[in-house]
Amino acid sequence: MAVVRDRRLPHLNLTLELPDTGATADCRLRFALPPLLPPCSMSSAFSSASASASAATPPSAEFRFSDFEKIRVLGHGNGGTVYKVRHRRTAALYALKVVNTDAADVSLRRQVYREVDILRRAVDSDHVIRFHAVVPTSSGDVALLLEHMDGGSLDVLLRRRGRPFPEPALAAIARQALLGLAELHSRQIVHRDIKPANLLINAAGEVKIADFGVGKVLRRSLDPCDSYVGTCAYMSPERFDPVSHGGDYDPYAADVWSLGLAVLELHRGHFPLLPEGARPDWAALMVAICFGEAACAVPEGAASGEFRGFIECCLQKESGKRWSVAELLGHPFVAGADRVDSERALRDLLLEGSDES
Ligand code: ATP
Ligand code: MG
Repeated sequence: MAVVRDRRLPHLNLTLELPDTGATADCRLRFALPPLLPPCSMSSAFSSASASASAATPPSAEFRFSDFEKIRVLGHGNGGTVYKVRHRRTAALYALKVVNTDAADVSLRRQVYREVDILRRAVDSDHVIRFHAVVPTSSGDVALLLEHMDGGSLDVLLRRRGRPFPEPALAAIARQALLGLAELHSRQIVHRDIKPANLLINAAGEVKIADFGVGKVLRRSLDPCDSYVGTCAYMSPERFDPVSHGGDYDPYAADVWSLGLAVLELHRGHFPLLPEGARPDWAALMVAICFGEAACAVPEGAASGEFRGFIECCLQKESGKRWSVAELLGHPFVAGADRVDSERALRDLLLEGSDES
């Protein structure tokens, strides 16, 4: 099994510079994705997309790559490059995720189709990134037209800010991310790669879950689910060692662990299971996750009792003891927070770190 998924660069002729997102930190290792689902057809992706397109946009089947003007690179991941684009006729702004799918690489194509399939299923969710269409490219790459989140990802916001997020803002982030997970889990969709880089925010202070590259629709309640996909640093202990940490791998509980760790990272200002600045390898991460005391990573006095309690409920090592998404939505840290104050605190963060986006 490959430990690190090869980075794939698009074939397109692009001259834009990448922003310094810090997203290439060594701890963000990803495992190779095994083919799981048969690819859905392009035409089904198109027809699903047309239902979600706003009135201002043409039906998705009319989208062509040349209809869009590239403005800048928004981010760069293992799956491809994401651009901010403007639709030339309507001037509407979008994010265009271009995935370099080598025709010979069937598993990568399947991965993209699976991402489209999940985005289409979650199209009505307020806290999941909105999908508009698959846009064909002349190079054969696959381009996904997505809602543009003008505040970017939470990991970029954290780096730009250079210091931890305040608790009220974290309560707003946790609440919205939990609502997104609740919507996904109610449709039997597991994300499997929740982390700050996959939580996006817009100027209105809305937080949405993005990047379903390794997501999965569980078709039956006991559907076998490969635990070794996603970003190693955010994997729960039972994904490494199911026997010692609660028995069978429960992908819903694993999403909860990843969210708890993501919120904790935003609170600490750096990846919380390792010393700041550490360049971890796979073994160091596994030891920290399975044998470290993740829930104790919030020093006493450094946070409110509600926050510490919330993190403890998310980061229970035994998956069966971890709170569910529904329970966490009722946790005092989330349910007890003043909605108006916490959402204002989140918008203030955006204003502090705002640049041209
Ligand atoms: P990785 O494999 O590293 O998780 P990926 O190749 O699957 O990444 P995404 O996570 O979908 O790609 O996107 C990479 C980055 O691009 C995000 O972390 C974010 O900074 C930016 N990005 C993605 N989608 C959007 C969007 N809709 N609006 C604004 N920025 C976006
Ligand atoms: Mg990503």
